[in-house]
Amino acid sequence: MKNSFKLLALLFFMAGCTSSVPATPVTETETKSLVFKNTVVSLTFDDGDADNYSVRSALAENNLPATFYVVSGFTNSNGYMTEDQLRDLYNDGNEIGGHTLSHVNLEDVRGADLEREVCQDRSNLVAYGFDVTSFAYPFGHYDDEAKKVVKDCGYGNARGVSDGPETIPPVDGHGLRAMPYIVSDTRFPKMVRYVTEVENSGGGWVIFVFHHVCDGCDQYAIKPQVFAEFSQWLGEQQSNGLIVKTVGQVMAGDQ
Ligand SMILES: [Zn+2]
Repeated sequence: MKNSFKLLALLFFMAGCTSSVPATPVTETETKSLVFKNTVVSLTFDDGDADNYSVRSALAENNLPATFYVVSGFTNSNGYMTEDQLRDLYNDGNEIGGHTLSHVNLEDVRGADLEREVCQDRSNLVAYGFDVTSFAYPFGHYDDEAKKVVKDCGYGNARGVSDGPETIPPVDGHGLRAMPYIVSDTRFPKMVRYVTEVENSGGGWVIFVFHHVCDGCDQYAIKPQVFAEFSQWLGEQQSNGLIVKTVGQVMAGDQ
C-alpha cells in the first residue's frame, strides 16, 4: 500500500515535470532558425495617401526602402501627401513611382487621354526632382495599348496587383506580379507566411501592395500596429539573408 502510494506520487511528480516543460518557444525557435537565400521583398504603397507618410520612421528605422506609387494629380490635395512629404520619403532612400494623373482605369482611356494620364504624371514627378522608373497600373488593369504607352513614356517597369510571387528576373517587367492586397483584416502572421512560403518553395520576389495605413479608415488599409510589427520583423530578417529593396532597385539588378 505504502509502496504503491509512493509509485503514484512519483508518477504524479513525473507527469508534473513533463507538463511543466516550457510550452512554446516553438515560434521563437522557428524565427531564429530562419535563413533566407533567395527571397527578395518589395514594399509598395499605392495612391500617395496622406496616411502613408506615417510609415516613414518605421521604414527608416528598420532599413526598409519602399516604393510609393503616386497619383500626381492628387498630390498636395486633401487626403494625399504633399510634394514636400514625397521629397522626405525620397531623400530617405525610398522610391517614388507613377500611378497616373487621376487614377483612371487605363483600359478605359485611349489615345491622347491615355498618354496624358501616364506621361504627364511621370513628367510631374520628374519635375519634382525624382528619378522615376517604376509605374503601377491603377486597379491593376491594363492591356497591350496601355502597356505600350507606359513603356513609351519612359517607365522601365510596371506592377499589377495579383498573381504573385514574381520571379527574378520577371517574365514581364511591365506586368509585375504582386501578392494579394493587404486589407484591414490581414494579420502579421499571414504576412510573414507570404515571405517564408516563397523562401521554402525555392525563393522569389514578394511584392506587397499597401494602400491606406490606418485603423479602420478603409477596407484596403493596414493597421499601423500590424505594419510596425511586420516592418520590425523584416528588419530583423535582413540579418538572416532576407533582401528588401524597392521595385526599381530590383529591376536594376541592384540586389
Ligand atoms: Zn491605386
